[in-house]
Amino acid sequence: MKAALITIGNELLSGFTVNTNAAWIGQEMGNIGIELRVQHTIGDDKEHIITALEDVSKDMSVVVVTGGLGPTHDDVTPSAFYSYFEDKPVFDEQYWKELTERFSRINYSIPDLNRNQAMKPEKGEVIQNMLGSARGLQFKKGSCHYFALPGVPKEMKAMMMSTVLPFLKSLEEKPISVRTIRTTGIPESALAEKINKKIISHNFPCSVAFLPKLTGVDIRLFGQDAQNIRDMEEILTPVIEKYVYGYDDVSLEEVVGNRLRELGLTLATAESCTGGLLGHRITSVSGSSDYYLGGVVSYNNEAKMELLGVKKQTLEKFGAVSEETVREMAQGVRSLFKSDLGISISGIAGPTGGTPEKPVGLIYIGLSSGKEVAVKKFNFFRDRDSNKRISSQVALNMIRLALKNE
Ligand code: ATP
Repeated sequence: MKAALITIGNELLSGFTVNTNAAWIGQEMGNIGIELRVQHTIGDDKEHIITALEDVSKDMSVVVVTGGLGPTHDDVTPSAFYSYFEDKPVFDEQYWKELTERFSRINYSIPDLNRNQAMKPEKGEVIQNMLGSARGLQFKKGSCHYFALPGVPKEMKAMMMSTVLPFLKSLEEKPISVRTIRTTGIPESALAEKINKKIISHNFPCSVAFLPKLTGVDIRLFGQDAQNIRDMEEILTPVIEKYVYGYDDVSLEEVVGNRLRELGLTLATAESCTGGLLGHRITSVSGSSDYYLGGVVSYNNEAKMELLGVKKQTLEKFGAVSEETVREMAQGVRSLFKSDLGISISGIAGPTGGTPEKPVGLIYIGLSSGKEVAVKKFNFFRDRDSNKRISSQVALNMIRLALKNE
């Protein structure tokens, strides 16, 4: 099935808003085997929307439009849809009552401007929006299905998940199955070298794609036979087992959290150059208080000494970015929080602060488990953001590997 996407918003064109809807919709459609052929991004202009609908519709089975459904003057998608489908909207008394009640529950009297959100098509359908006031629209012209959804990513995603994607899935005669193997700690080329022989020798009728990111490589297996994909996964996983942290949408922080909970262990973090990113990732997982006790962002030397008990001599002799310092940071945070594990990160994130002996990208990570402190040294990148992100990933992966065989 072929699809087109039109994302609407002046803020997308000016670059003030990053078009995350396009990336998300492209991925989700791909996951159910819909081929996204065309993407248009246009401003909040009724005539441009109509032209874009005309332009993209040829040979398409699906056209999704996001943005411009709100009550303000620049929200012109409904009016473009009604013109394009030659429909006359009618006022939906029932929905207006519902909207009025929703507003009064949060002590607002509903502005008249919202009345246009209570219009509904005669020829098409409305798509319920459980998270906002702008309902979506659905039309059919020839054999093509058209959807208009709000621009707000959270609302758009919820409506895609609850209504649009299940509807499109039901149209597919041969739906695609997808399985993503998530890896970290190995570059794409090394990963490919390890599994390419297996892929070729088994000659499975399913496709394999490598999706490299800064923090790891996803291997996407997809095809029409779900059993083939399961077989392929079983054959490939043992070859790269050490690097596989999970499947599909699972994150490394979730995997580590689940393992800590399973083992009944607790964790504390001591961060310098990552400035709390590791703690942020760990606490992004709901229920993380089961195993995460807390963290210290010990950015300068005083904080390292006063909060974590790093010795002055250690800092003077070896420096803040050293094996010895992260060792003491990991031990210090573990005893401060009385946790089973303490993890520490110290490094030179850049772009300034590097020296010939300690260049930008030099990062030490320490993991104290009571029995011992394992310290690893890395030479990562030249840019600050990448160094922070990769350091938090490697730290989580060190915990994962340490707990793997516990
Ligand atoms: P609302 O009811 O809020 O007006 P809407 O359907 O009219 O919803 P817009 O006004 O176009 O949507 O956008 C609402 C918010 O969603 C804005 O903050 C906008 O920047 C953001 N947004 C719109 N389109 C996208 C997109 N393609 N990717 C990411 N964010 C988007």
